[in-house]
Amino acid sequence: MEPAAASSARALPAIVGIVGAGTMGAGIGQVALEAGCEVVFYDVDEAALDAARERILDGLSRRAVKRGLHAAEADDWVEARLDRIRHVPTVDALADEADLVIESALEDLALKRTVFRTLDEVADPARILATNTSALSVAEIAEATARPDRVIGLHFFNPAPVMALVEVVAPPLADPAVVARAVAIMTTWGKTPVVCADRPGFIVNRVNRPFTIEALRILESGAATVSEIDEALRSGGFPMGPFELMDLTGIDVTLAAATGIWEGLGRPDRLRPSPIQEAMVEVGDLGRKTGRGFYQYADGQRLGEAEQPADTPSEEQLSSAQIRDRILDAIATEARFAADEGVATPDVIDLALRLGAGHPHGPFES
Ligand code: NAD
Repeated sequence: MEPAAASSARALPAIVGIVGAGTMGAGIGQVALEAGCEVVFYDVDEAALDAARERILDGLSRRAVKRGLHAAEADDWVEARLDRIRHVPTVDALADEADLVIESALEDLALKRTVFRTLDEVADPARILATNTSALSVAEIAEATARPDRVIGLHFFNPAPVMALVEVVAPPLADPAVVARAVAIMTTWGKTPVVCADRPGFIVNRVNRPFTIEALRILESGAATVSEIDEALRSGGFPMGPFELMDLTGIDVTLAAATGIWEGLGRPDRLRPSPIQEAMVEVGDLGRKTGRGFYQYADGQRLGEAEQPADTPSEEQLSSAQIRDRILDAIATEARFAADEGVATPDVIDLALRLGAGHPHGPFES
């Protein structure tokens, strides 16, 4: 075996245990299967396990087509990977056999700590225990174990099989060798891992926060409409405008993320969630999933802008370029704060924003 291949093989865990077979668990499972691993799932909900298998079947089938495989060849390729999925009835059983565990259950600190306590009791002490949390402190999850040096974050983006970026979150007690091994595994899985500190929102969810918050500030001031702001960002090379993005993600999910990061960072004014988001959540206008957010929807189609409570245009109207400058300047400011706090280096932040949020260029790039 050549040296490079030998080191890849060493980096690859044979059995990956995934706790929580929802949207992210299934996506991460597909990635691990494609990389050649066996995948063992545990979920409290039997139906979630069946749904994950269906989702993976669908994802692998599409991948087979992309690889240029046809008919029987594609079926064999998909089946060979599906055959490597197993379910176990308890977290203990999963911990007992997995070489790497990735927890992707609900975003709830108490629940994750309970899961990690069990994993820690059963798993070989040398195993890495990872969480896919988006916003919780990895260190606080690690505290539930007797091996905080082997607990890290592996923050995949949705959809995991498609998105290249994985934030490898390193709390202060994490062993650098564990972080390096996680980076090697993610690279072997075809991902682009970026190491970052265990600070609220890690890199992308924090540095990109002004993409929506500053857009909401402009909307609050009446200096531009929802569609003007979205159009300004799209014409600047962003895949989606901030209001389209919030409608897709869900206004409740966006508000929860914004609030968590704002609180975690000590409630800085610049990241304070918007009263517009709060009012929308209160009345249940949550975006696409409720048929009404910043836009209205029927049968999955966007109809037009929904009327906003504060729909009074101000005297000062911003041009497309001014809207973009306002939002990109706010993102650049957040990027500088994050770099100064040691979340990651400017180069890494640039890469993460390009890959994780589809920015045409990073905040430190001209
Ligand atoms: P989801 O609701 O789709 O799936 C969660 C799964 O966990 C469900 O199947 C549920 O039955 C299961 N579950 C609940 N309690 C459990 C327990 N005690 N043990 C085992 N399984 C349990 O959620 P999701 O979107 O896949 O998110 C999972 C995690 O990934 C969360 O921490 C979330 O913050 C994080 N995350 C989500 C996204 C995203 O875009 N959805 C992106 C990155 C990270």
